[in-house]
Amino acid sequence: MTGNQPAINKRLTEDLKNASFIRKMFEQGEELKKIHGADKVFDFSLGNPEVEPPESVRESFVRHAGDQTPGTHRYMSNAGYPHVRESVAELIGRQSGIKPRANLVVMTVGAAGGLNIVLKTLLDPGDEVVAFAPYFKEYNFYAQNHGGRIVEAATDPETFLPSPEALERAVTARTKAVILNSPNNPTGAVYDAACLTALADAVRACEKKFGHTIYVISDEPYVSIVYDGAVPPQVFCHFENAIIINSYSKSLALAGERIGYVAVSPNAADADRIAEGLVFCNRVLGFVNAPAFLQRVVADSLEASVDVAVYAEKRDAICAILREAGFTFRVPQGAFYLFPKILGNDEEAFKDAAVRHNILIVPGSGFAGPGHFRLAFCVATETIQRSRGAFLALAAEYAKQ
Ligand code: PLP
Repeated sequence: MTGNQPAINKRLTEDLKNASFIRKMFEQGEELKKIHGADKVFDFSLGNPEVEPPESVRESFVRHAGDQTPGTHRYMSNAGYPHVRESVAELIGRQSGIKPRANLVVMTVGAAGGLNIVLKTLLDPGDEVVAFAPYFKEYNFYAQNHGGRIVEAATDPETFLPSPEALERAVTARTKAVILNSPNNPTGAVYDAACLTALADAVRACEKKFGHTIYVISDEPYVSIVYDGAVPPQVFCHFENAIIINSYSKSLALAGERIGYVAVSPNAADADRIAEGLVFCNRVLGFVNAPAFLQRVVADSLEASVDVAVYAEKRDAICAILREAGFTFRVPQGAFYLFPKILGNDEEAFKDAAVRHNILIVPGSGFAGPGHFRLAFCVATETIQRSRGAFLALAAEYAKQ
């Protein structure tokens, strides 16, 4: 307390209360590790990749660290280094056939920084952003940061693919944008071309109905982690008013280094004005510019990726265990998450039962997907293998009930 006033604002007080389950889970994990030893605790709660960055990235780190060129560490344009933005624009052009001008690319502090500058640029107070549930719930905080709010639309309960009909039901006169996230956290779903085409039709129908542009924000930090020949989305090919948000947190395993970008489609309404807004927002949200050193590093490795075969192996190992234990789940086509159905019908009770077997997972409600749990398999393969007995015992406990 400072006088009679609480030190922090009322909204934040609420947010801290709601967000505390993640901290609790972390503390619970640390406690379990102290009691049982780290190798007996199976922590699948966090999407923090255990794999290391590719060798080419490590080499860039060393090379750029030795760069004595004067000015290397100075401020730059709030949008980032021109040569890096041009390289990103060229890469998007090669991948999608639609090359944004370099001024439409802004280097950011990860995808989280990208989402915040996009939402600050687009939203007026009270504006709505549609997200397909289950979804990465940080979106709620990001929208709220800029006076907006998330409106949920449903996905198919079997495939977790977004429903165009649900989108049309969710859009109102206040809808400014729709967020897509493919490959998806938490479901691992990858939206195929047919799905994107149907969504594009629905977005156009909504634009016509309400007489204003609806931007499609494609949050793509997992775009290079796909399995079984799944094709990552090319949103510029499907939506005119598209904005890509990407980062190197997962593709190059650089989550702690905070580097990514936003790219506005050259076909988007007011594309240049939006880019101007993004650059300004990068500045006034206090990011100023994306880390200079990391811009130089990723520019050397724009097409590099962690070894996806390693994730595929982890995915297959955890799927085999869950299958054996009798869980119901969809095999993920991308990212490194599974979103199985809980056993029984009480999410909290299921989570607590899992903890009793030293398994840490996140209840699906944390992603607006009740009745499920999220399991992040970006952990050591040995951890997955060692968890088999615990999952079988957990399932056996429920089988007895
Ligand atoms: N979007 C989704 C769907 C995520 O899962 C994450 C991180 O886990 C982010 C955005 C933020 O990524 P970054 O580390 O690039 O800020």
